[in-house]
Amino acid sequence: MNKKYDLIILGSGPAGITAGIYAMRAKLDTLLLEKDFVSGGQVLNTYEVDNYPGLPQITGIELSEAFEKHAKGLNLPIEQGEVTGIFRESDSFRVETDGEIYRAYTVIIASGTHHRTLDIPGESELTGMGVSYCATCDGAFFKEKTVAVVGGGDAAVEDAIFLARICKKVYLIHRRDQLRAARILQDRLMELANVEMLWNCEVEKIIGDQQVSSIEINKHTEEGSKHTSLDVDGIFIAVGVLPNNQGLDGVAKTDPAGYLIAGEDCKTSTPGIFAAGDIRTKALRQIVTAAADGANASASVLQYLTNFHKDSL
Ligand SMILES: Cc1cc2nc3c(=O)[nH]c(=O)nc-3n(C[C@H](O)[C@H](O)[C@H](O)COP(=O)(O)OP(=O)(O)OC[C@H]3O[C@@H](n4cnc5c(N)ncnc54)[C@H](O)[C@@H]3O)c2cc1C
Repeated sequence: MNKKYDLIILGSGPAGITAGIYAMRAKLDTLLLEKDFVSGGQVLNTYEVDNYPGLPQITGIELSEAFEKHAKGLNLPIEQGEVTGIFRESDSFRVETDGEIYRAYTVIIASGTHHRTLDIPGESELTGMGVSYCATCDGAFFKEKTVAVVGGGDAAVEDAIFLARICKKVYLIHRRDQLRAARILQDRLMELANVEMLWNCEVEKIIGDQQVSSIEINKHTEEGSKHTSLDVDGIFIAVGVLPNNQGLDGVAKTDPAGYLIAGEDCKTSTPGIFAAGDIRTKALRQIVTAAADGANASASVLQYLTNFHKDSL
């Protein structure tokens, strides 16, 4: 394709969609590429969002639909395609997906993060057969059943609260003796009669034949380790995230964990490449900070194009 866009955005989470909204309002010739068939990013996997200003207790699906509707109302083109490489070409960038080649003067990478795995026996074999990384997506399959949630941050506690409404019993398994989750979430969790905390415990093995039936746990005590088995129908793993940087090798500098290094202006080490949302080095990865990045990234794009590609505007 010979066409050169002013801007290509990677990812349709809150960062990418907000970048698109600001770019369309600035009249930039923009294309958004999303690897999934549905827009929304991680918000789609969130049951309820209660900290986005002005929209208390909105469901993740409603919020992502509202984001997409806003962007499409401004005629932002959204195409399905997984970006597999970004390469510099004289005055612009070649953006390759699984089936197409696009060109643009600037690129905003808003590819977000994906869940971390435990890497224990049985985990990959039983994924989709009782092992899940998304309580919102799979919780309904465990009505009146017993499940375990692994983790101690916001996502794990939110998952446990959500599952407690559906399941007979929820074990929250955490390897430390206190949670990292926000206080308000911890307070809500502690009120739930069908949630039991298993402190200082690590899941070592997931057992089942075509479906999870039990897990093996190692409990750390002052006397040493104690191995036990727990019968569960499902296990939800919420132990953190990793950056979606596949196919982005060498595009711009990253930190040791693989996040693109950029400040609030979203400028990376490569002029013309910007990073917005969870993929960027930052302290707080949330919807509202991702949306803020999207706005800042598009403002930086406009400034860059004004300085270096006046003719394209
Ligand atoms: C279970 C859960 C609950 C949460 N609850 C809350 C909450 O209550 N409040 C809150 O503020 N935050 C919450 N968060 C965090 C919030 O969802 C994220 O901070 C936010 O979605 C980040 O937005 P983003 O646009 O940077 O990335 P993402 O939302 O991760 O979107 C990235 C998009 O990029 C796409 N993509 C990735 N790689 C490529 C590629 N190579 N080519 C094309 N597309 C690509 C992905 O498919 C995805 O659609 C929660 C997260 C989870 C997982």
